[in-house]
Amino acid sequence: MVIQTATLGYPRIGKNREVKKALEGFWSGKLDSESLLQTVRQVEESNWQTQLQAGIDRIGIGDTTLYDSVLDWSVYLGLIPERFQHLSGLEQYFAMARGKEGIPALEMTKWFDTNYHYLVPEISAQLLSADFSDVLETVHRAQQILGQRAVPIILGPVTLLRLSRLEVPISELVSPLCDRYLNLLLALKPLGVEEVQIHEPALVLGDATNFKEYYESIYASLAKVGLPLHLVTYFDDLGENYPWVVQLPVSSISLDFTRGRNLELIKHYGFPADKRLGVGIVDARNIWQIRPDRLLPILEEIQPITSNLSIQPSASLQFVPYDATRETKLPEPLRNVLSFAEQKLQEVVFLARTAAGEDLKQERESIQASWQVFEQFSPANQVVQDRLKNLKMDDFQRSLSYSLRLSEQIPLPPLPTTTIGSFPQTSEVRQLRVKYKRGELTLAQYHQSIDTQIAQCIKIQEEIGLDVLVHGEFERTDMVEYFGQQLSGFAFTEHGWVQSYGSRCVRPPIIYGDVVRTEPMTVREFKVAQSLTEKPVKGMLTGPVTMINWSYPRTDIARQEQAFQIALALRDEVADLEAAGAKIIQIDEPALREGLPLKTERWNEYLSWAVDSFKLSAGIAKPETQIHTHMCYSEFGDIITDIERLDADVLSIENSRSNNETLYELTDGGYSKQVGNGVYDVHSPAIPNTEQILSQLRTGIANLPVKQIWVNPDCGLKTRRWEEVVPSLKSMVQATKILREET
Ligand code: GLN
Ligand code: ZN
Repeated sequence: MVIQTATLGYPRIGKNREVKKALEGFWSGKLDSESLLQTVRQVEESNWQTQLQAGIDRIGIGDTTLYDSVLDWSVYLGLIPERFQHLSGLEQYFAMARGKEGIPALEMTKWFDTNYHYLVPEISAQLLSADFSDVLETVHRAQQILGQRAVPIILGPVTLLRLSRLEVPISELVSPLCDRYLNLLLALKPLGVEEVQIHEPALVLGDATNFKEYYESIYASLAKVGLPLHLVTYFDDLGENYPWVVQLPVSSISLDFTRGRNLELIKHYGFPADKRLGVGIVDARNIWQIRPDRLLPILEEIQPITSNLSIQPSASLQFVPYDATRETKLPEPLRNVLSFAEQKLQEVVFLARTAAGEDLKQERESIQASWQVFEQFSPANQVVQDRLKNLKMDDFQRSLSYSLRLSEQIPLPPLPTTTIGSFPQTSEVRQLRVKYKRGELTLAQYHQSIDTQIAQCIKIQEEIGLDVLVHGEFERTDMVEYFGQQLSGFAFTEHGWVQSYGSRCVRPPIIYGDVVRTEPMTVREFKVAQSLTEKPVKGMLTGPVTMINWSYPRTDIARQEQAFQIALALRDEVADLEAAGAKIIQIDEPALREGLPLKTERWNEYLSWAVDSFKLSAGIAKPETQIHTHMCYSEFGDIITDIERLDADVLSIENSRSNNETLYELTDGGYSKQVGNGVYDVHSPAIPNTEQILSQLRTGIANLPVKQIWVNPDCGLKTRRWEEVVPSLKSMVQATKILREET
């Protein structure tokens, strides 16, 4: 027996972020378009070679992109909003991605529950004609390298519609869009491709049932072309839609066996004999080597149900970096249990051969041995384990309720003004960190330079007249990395970049062991700042949920347990900050909302531990300590009771970009605590004037009692320049003064 292998997409930024660098060169005018395209093609072709050499049978192609693959499909399909129609070529493409003087870009949002961001297609009645020449050219090029193994990846029509912003009723778009996909398949057929992958991840969303008729009618039409269609789903299970989805007229269906309950579904309902099952069993969303003792039994359960299967990663490998073997600075026992894209290809092949009956004893034993070495290298930490075991209900609660502790907290003027934490990260500040890392500055010299920055920042905030000050976060590269680097149990890679959006890449930390705080992480900088001013300085921490959502978590223990461990570390930090004199401590949770599972029936389970871990970190604070949290670019309408349950005294939110939507959600939901209603957009270089901020504040006052309102920008000021920050904050303080006199 032979079991085939497949891939559903590959990292496309280049092993050394070549695409990122080429894009930046092109945008700054240093690189011409031909060189840019050549770089992208080289990265693409080397990806193909890697997958070919690994022995993958059906290699997904066509997902390489200059910016975003969803944007690519908008362009191929002629879904170009009117405001871009006068442009063409790369100019049009990058205008859609990034905007251009006076022409706003397409909206960007998260791709399902990943940290990848895509550009939301906008579909109006005015469709342009489709142009698939780039798709065909890529197929042609891929076939020269991969031959019959090249399988074009197509973004599915219903997922595209489901994710788009529609200016016309969906029912009117189905037929024109279906025609375009038909034309694409008709053009691909003569090229001799053996099948096409049509990715329909929207099938795992809770509302997939509402789109059933579209799936059925569109796929019935597409099937007529006679090109084998491989319907690909991922990120969760098909849920109640399983029975009709597996009846769609396609030749293969891929399911994610790393998340959700697809295994139960196929065991319960069976799987159609006339289709191939794509078994997405190698986790494309995390970086751990497989554990054959866990995965082989799953395959053994699947095989009696259908023997017509292929083994593959659970989704595109774009969510993991290229190659774990390059991480030579990581301890070997850890490195040997990491698996990035290249290692995952080998795992796919290993599992397929094993499932086909080969006994790959040596490989299996070597994997097992590396796990054993790792377990000895990173044993459980008894102290943390005991603390977790002995947690009591009280540990999650402040000792006094909000209404009772309020009067004990620091007195402040009405409409207190503050910022979200970070101040400009100038190149001077970044240089300091680089020099320290290179050993060009001693620790003492580095601290001294950071303290100079803190002192300047405090002075500026006092001159501006803010009520609650911050130290400015100059010592932090990134809000998760900074804490992770000081906690044991976190590891950081050198080359582990993944695409966040366009040319932006991130290197998510890896949580590999029990998380322990060995010493205070923020107290020194807090003390320096507080010693320079009579005004209160906020202690500034990153919350446990954000830390875990922006990292690759462990898979041997539950996420809840990992979040609680981080929460305990932060809890100790809160206590230390208090002891050092902090009257106000902010615990940022910008990623709380984005961790919500795709299926609403699993929201409660997540929110329960997510909110609990925040409360565990803050619960130790004395009644007189004011706890703040910050969540930007979130929606609260449907999670308002959970936000209330966080029991933070003050919540600062983004508002100016969402046009006060967030504020209305809170006020409609009857939110009872204080709200820092973001008064200006920090992502724009524009300096708001007093009038603009006044009008934003007035909206706040019209919706919430004055005593519940704080005044702050939407988010941290890290990416802005001082020349922008100072006048903007002055307008903010000025507007607040005017209002205080009025009210
Ligand atoms: N305190 C952080 C800052 O000001 C918060 C950043 C965020 O919300 N993403 O940068
Ligand atoms: Zn923010």
